[in-house]
Amino acid sequence: MAEVSVVGYPRIGADRELKKVTEQYFKGAVSAEELTKAAAELRKAHWRVQADKGVRYIPSNDFSFYDNLLDMALTLDAVPTRYRELGLPPLDVYFAMARGYQKGGRDVKALPMKKWFNTNYHYMVPEIEEGTRLRLANTKVLDEYAEAKALGIETRPVVPGPLTFLKLSRLPAGKGLGDYQEEIAQAYVDLISRLAAKGVAMLQLDEPILVTDLSSFEIGIFTAIYSRLLAERSGMKILLQTYFGDVHDSFDAIAKLDFDAVGLDFVEGRDNLRLLKETGFPDGRLLFAGVVNGRNIWRNDYRKTLELLDEIRRVVETPPVIGTSCSLLFAPYSVRYEKGMDESYRRHLAFAEEKLDELRELAGLFDLSDRSRDERFARNQALLHEKSESQSFSFKEVRQRVAALTERDFVRTPSFEERYRLQKNELRLPLFPTTTIGSFPQTGDVRKLRKSLHDGEISEQEYVERIRSKIRDLIKLQEEIGLDVLVHGEYERSDMVEYFGENLPGFLFTQNGWVQSYGTRCVRPPIIFGDVKRAKPFTVAWITYAQSLTKRPVKGMLTGPITILNWSFPREDLPLREIAYQIALAIRDEVLDLEKAGIRVIQIDEPALREKLPLRKANWKKDYLDWAVRAFRLVHSGVKPETQIHTHMCYSEFADIIKEIEEMDADVISIEAARSDLTMLNVLRENNYSHQVGPGVYDIHSPRVPPEKEIRDTLVRMKERLDVGKIWVNPDCGLKTRSMEETVPSLKNLVEAARSMR
Ligand code: GLN
Ligand code: ZN
Repeated sequence: MAEVSVVGYPRIGADRELKKVTEQYFKGAVSAEELTKAAAELRKAHWRVQADKGVRYIPSNDFSFYDNLLDMALTLDAVPTRYRELGLPPLDVYFAMARGYQKGGRDVKALPMKKWFNTNYHYMVPEIEEGTRLRLANTKVLDEYAEAKALGIETRPVVPGPLTFLKLSRLPAGKGLGDYQEEIAQAYVDLISRLAAKGVAMLQLDEPILVTDLSSFEIGIFTAIYSRLLAERSGMKILLQTYFGDVHDSFDAIAKLDFDAVGLDFVEGRDNLRLLKETGFPDGRLLFAGVVNGRNIWRNDYRKTLELLDEIRRVVETPPVIGTSCSLLFAPYSVRYEKGMDESYRRHLAFAEEKLDELRELAGLFDLSDRSRDERFARNQALLHEKSESQSFSFKEVRQRVAALTERDFVRTPSFEERYRLQKNELRLPLFPTTTIGSFPQTGDVRKLRKSLHDGEISEQEYVERIRSKIRDLIKLQEEIGLDVLVHGEYERSDMVEYFGENLPGFLFTQNGWVQSYGTRCVRPPIIFGDVKRAKPFTVAWITYAQSLTKRPVKGMLTGPITILNWSFPREDLPLREIAYQIALAIRDEVLDLEKAGIRVIQIDEPALREKLPLRKANWKKDYLDWAVRAFRLVHSGVKPETQIHTHMCYSEFADIIKEIEEMDADVISIEAARSDLTMLNVLRENNYSHQVGPGVYDIHSPRVPPEKEIRDTLVRMKERLDVGKIWVNPDCGLKTRSMEETVPSLKNLVEAARSMR
């Protein structure tokens, strides 16, 4: 039978055990020993389930306490001096790099965090300091292999490859990839020889960077490093694993190198098949064919997949290994936990565990000469047919509304400058207006409140009253702190996308469909099962209540269509553009209702705008930005000129899409800048960015309280580069993950800094 491989497995735990115990550790409630023990239990469970379900190539070292690239930074000794100097045990140095450290008079910021390719997972950006010498510095990869081995499970260690590591790291000024080529190759050679000595049969090196645009210089570095690794592989097999797209500019280089196995993604990298056909695949080499989508949750279409595998089979000598397109990190654990979900929906879903079943079934079917008679095949095809026939999730009026859109629906009038004047008059804000991004700390009591409502322990009415009392306290607090544009705090929202999905028919929800977003943070993406519409207003009552308590403007907070789309599991039977327009129309209705209810400032968050940007630049506009920008414009084009539209973006590079961001035509944008040393400011200036902007003045992903002077210095730098009348003062992102103890002093410092600037 064909063999089965998994690129990586989720690690947070089916019940988010890792998140919980790690957070306990942060609080000092469990010891390092208890933490490591809990982690080992999870690894064991994950290996076991894969072994039980017949996976032949099981990954190890896909586990991480926070992030795999951060793990690799430690493995390669890329630990900046400021963390080393803390003199902490290794695990705490690691967490200091991940989260910053502020204790006993010491104060170090976290490493920056960025989105992992076009996913909603965030990695920590390794920093290679001047003077750092990359070398093999710890045994994590070996230890986890040995741990599995002791359980009787043979695994394949998975390690970020050297090119991806270097390309995603921050190098010292003036240094380039070439400067590290030798030493990183040596470090990997050392790792390889240690693994080979342990009897490891195969090592997987993940090089997703190969699906992005690379220069011939970079491909040269790739070739040089890998020639060396392959020459010194000591009998161990090396699997070069790519995912998230095709490898068209490095395919020749890959083919020329003597890899034992190559992993290609045939779900997102359809061109890989063409490359295989045109260039061929060296005899004797093993192809790991990524055919089961690691990033979406729909059942695999066996007919299509088997046809694809047949095509692949014709051009490769050895039968391909049947695998996931990428790590299953991006999929929830199992539909088994979805007890509350109607079976008619549930049977269409495949989470990580179910994907293991699919892999095994596909492997079984692949070898059959007459598959159509097979019961597994018939069952699968009947299921898919049932979905395409189903009318229950199709709303004719939505389809018609989208079809009837004209150019005018995408344009807001008058121009920004004109609106700027009108809004100035309307809102009468001081220079350096202060605001926040929307959410305030979601303390235990708030989460409990939502749970009690959900479990029927309190009535809807009581819930509303208790949330309102939180809003009252928050409005008062913001007035005391002296903020200019207030927010209601988003207490009623568990998550900015989940909450919107819950209020828009067409979305489906899971009870336990958690996926890791960064570190210990998980989200439960909704599933876009059918056409999307808005049944009735759902944010208006909360926001107008908050506005009724104060004379200062309260910002209405909405999630934008692109973020909703990008943070959901989308249906696969409609173009993404069409789904985006459907959602945009639903949010547009909410915007207009907020305006009608007297809300003068409305923020439409698009933190995820960049996330699904095609990885190849040539495809950016036509495949994505053209319709993404239009979807956003559709949301707000109907408001009066006096209504001020804000948007918010975070945790990505925005430099290269700044023109498109401006084309979204929001009046104000708050944007992440604190973690990236305000390079954003230069970008805004160089591009003559003309709208109002609030570059975040402090990093909310860290528990650190920014001193007033630090914020003031930041504002001074902003003033030097931007039009002083267009600068807003705000944190980097929402405050929901912070505590009140950190938030209040931070915001006081922020207000104080703005005042001293005035
Ligand atoms: N308004 C949201 C909040 O404050 C924005 C969150 C985000 O950008 N991820 O929580
Ligand atoms: Zn944000």
